Amino acid sequence: MKKIILTGDRPTGRLHVGHYVGSLRRRVELQNRGEFDEIYIMIADAQALTDNVDNPEKIRQNIIEVALDWLAVGLDPAKSCLFVQSAVPELTEMTFFYLNLVTVARLQRNPTVKAEIQLRNFEASIPAGFLIYPVSQAADITAFKATVVPVGEDQEPMIEQTREIVRKFNDIYGEVLVEPSILLPDSKAEMRLPGTDGKAKMSKSLGNCIYLSDSEDEVKKKVMSMYTDPDHIKVSDPGKLEGNTVFTYLEAFSTGEHFRKYLPEYADLDALKEHYTRGGLGDVKVKKFLNAVLEDTLRPIRERRKEFAKDIPAIYRVLEEGSRKARAKAAETLGEMKNAMQINYFADEELIRSQAERFKSEAE
Ligand code: ATP
Ligand code: MG
Repeated sequence: MKKIILTGDRPTGRLHVGHYVGSLRRRVELQNRGEFDEIYIMIADAQALTDNVDNPEKIRQNIIEVALDWLAVGLDPAKSCLFVQSAVPELTEMTFFYLNLVTVARLQRNPTVKAEIQLRNFEASIPAGFLIYPVSQAADITAFKATVVPVGEDQEPMIEQTREIVRKFNDIYGEVLVEPSILLPDSKAEMRLPGTDGKAKMSKSLGNCIYLSDSEDEVKKKVMSMYTDPDHIKVSDPGKLEGNTVFTYLEAFSTGEHFRKYLPEYADLDALKEHYTRGGLGDVKVKKFLNAVLEDTLRPIRERRKEFAKDIPAIYRVLEEGSRKARAKAAETLGEMKNAMQINYFADEELIRSQAERFKSEAE
């Protein structure tokens, strides 16, 4: 069986360091390892409209921002098919068929959707399209027969929903679809990077992000005002690590190399943590270190982004070409699906012949 990746981002804002550790970094690594037969990376604009229906301009503006972020981190259109969801209408058609394979109760139980409904104050007025977006995600994944979906932890319920739909479809209609598996990052910190405010998740919707395209000054300002341990007031106080965002970020970003370069007096992150909890290590010193670590990661990304931004029309052409390729693949899968579902009346000569015979014999 072919090894195929599908993953993507919503064009609801520029991408942030949570995306980087949760998904982007892994994507680039998998892309460059070269062991995958096909890689599809999608800008989920139609999905973004499910909770931004009155703000199409936001989606429109952010398509290019997301594409720039992708290219800046090293996604390469020669190796990965970069495309836009709404340019592949086959996905919508698949969604419509899949909707009959799930119950409303099952959709309402999805913990990520539940949390997002609360966050958006949708309680009494959930757009139907928003409630069913996990089904459209199942279409996105299965259209490309993806075997692997590299995403953050919040996507786990979506992949489970997809697997259920695949099993049900194949049970009823025969083996057409492929069950995907989720590929999560290695550590807790990367799976769900908290916001700079200490909230559970860095998210465009919460405004607690360090963006990949933030300037050096912006990053520094955000890092220096980050949430740490509110009881760690004097340097000599022992500090807590639990819920301490600065240390969570260090877990996600710092390497042995960073310690040798910026804090050679500490062997590694464990040694730094030990000193912090013992007391005698101030937040400012730890934050300055985190800032240096982040700069090492973000500087090259920022510079490549500026380079790519010099030819914006070329980037739209990349997306257009990628969407054309993605559409061809999705159409192929949809064709197989419709054959299996016997929604192929005009191409089925046997059907036409037998119906003709039936009516003929009835008329006799
Ligand atoms: P929105 O608030 O519009 O939902 P978002 O910040 O949650 O935006 P998405 O486009 O929904 O971003 O997510 C894209 C990918 O990035 C998904 O794979 C998701 O799991 C991952 N991701 C998003 N936020 C984080 C985070 N804070 N930590 C780790 N991974 C994340
Ligand atoms: Mg999200």
